[in-house]
Amino acid sequence: MTPEQTDMLRSLPAVGELLVDATVVTWCESHSRTLVVESLRRAIDEARELVMANGSSVPCVDTKTILEAAQQYLACASKPSLRRVINATGIVIHTGLGRAPLCDEAVTALADAGGGYCNIELDLETGGRGKRTSHVREWLCRMTGAEAATVVNNNAAAMVLTLRALCADREVVVSRGQLVEIGGSFRMPDIMTAAGCRLREVGTTNRTRIGDFEGAVTDATAAFLRVHHSNFKIVGFTEEPTVAEMAEAAHALGLLAIDDVGSGAIFDHATLGLPDEPTVPASIEAGMDVVCFSGDKLLGGPQAGLIVGRADLISRIESHPLMRTYRVDKLVLLALEATLRRFVDRGTARASVPVLRMLTMPMAELRERANRLRDLLSATVPGERFEVAGDETFSGGGALPGQALETVVVRWRPANLSAGEAVKRLRGGDPAVVARISEDRILFDIRTVRPEIFATLVTSVAAAAVDLNTNAT
Ligand SMILES: *Cc1c(COP(=O)(O)O)cnc(C)c1O
Repeated sequence: MTPEQTDMLRSLPAVGELLVDATVVTWCESHSRTLVVESLRRAIDEARELVMANGSSVPCVDTKTILEAAQQYLACASKPSLRRVINATGIVIHTGLGRAPLCDEAVTALADAGGGYCNIELDLETGGRGKRTSHVREWLCRMTGAEAATVVNNNAAAMVLTLRALCADREVVVSRGQLVEIGGSFRMPDIMTAAGCRLREVGTTNRTRIGDFEGAVTDATAAFLRVHHSNFKIVGFTEEPTVAEMAEAAHALGLLAIDDVGSGAIFDHATLGLPDEPTVPASIEAGMDVVCFSGDKLLGGPQAGLIVGRADLISRIESHPLMRTYRVDKLVLLALEATLRRFVDRGTARASVPVLRMLTMPMAELRERANRLRDLLSATVPGERFEVAGDETFSGGGALPGQALETVVVRWRPANLSAGEAVKRLRGGDPAVVARISEDRILFDIRTVRPEIFATLVTSVAAAAVDLNTNAT
């Protein structure tokens, strides 16, 4: 170590000295002392490391720079890590942004009952022990036509548990065209292994017939499994058995027919003006014995894995020891029940479940909203140009694969900096704004931005733009 470094290290302030600094005293008035001390310590440690690492040209680290760094740590530590984000990507079911936003009724239920006690496992009539899944069972049966239903904490868990409880140590037949990977860690062959089942692949990537399934049956076979493609599409020379064919063939051979519908569409999408998507009621109607789907994709509720189907099978699933490890908590159940109640009919669901409302929003309304946002931005952010344009987006969340949805965006080409830099600043804003970039412009897709948050979005954009202008000059 050089003498300069030693001097520099010796001159670094101690936490105790900084704590009596007038600025730091004011920090302690609005922040916990623990956080203030931790921030100071981190800033001092960082300064020490900087001095140690630069022997030849010792950097000047004075109290002022240390306090600045500490203030940044403090600001960071005082903000929740998980916080609200404005999703301006237009991707309605965005896994990185928490998938489905909850409906108002779910939010109210969380606030009302989540903040206190609730009858999650108490039968209020008898005073005896209740079952936590009972709160959503009837609604799930009503909307899917199934005999029985249960809930676990996500669809991956629903699949593992179903396979484990019904097909352990036996073979499950799946089409080669359906051995999907979803979101990186859900890979059908691995799920099968984790569930203790043997995967029996049949057919080819693009064509599988019911005869392929039948031909693969041995004494060890337990079930035929259909897996929704979710996030990809096979086009061209293709063939796959229908769910009705699979159910019929399975039953004729004394086997089970299991369906991983994934996205969880309840209503026929054509009637919603959306690209076609397999629905849960259609699978039940077709005779599938057990159907699994997510709560936070097209259903528009909290993260959950829903399992519906034959009563005796659901009962076997519910009594499996692993059920306890996938148990959902009261927050999920409160939000889920409130969401399921919106599915009482198509009109109510479409009007009040945000995912469905956003996906089915008419172009005229999107355009009208985009015009309003553009006017607000133009009036509030001086020196910047905003324009309305047509664009395309995707539903996200492994639903409606390959189906671009027509949408409307407000485009911004920042006057003073690159779109990349502006997007980074928007992400760091409060609240953070996540937007797409295309051709050096930032796109705010109106589909996922409610008019109620226009003012907040405009404030965030104005903050980013001001920063840009001052930094550029
Ligand atoms: C999304 C999806 C899953 C995984 O569901 P999670 O709720 O994310 O665990 C499994 N299978 C299919 C077909 C899916 O689309």
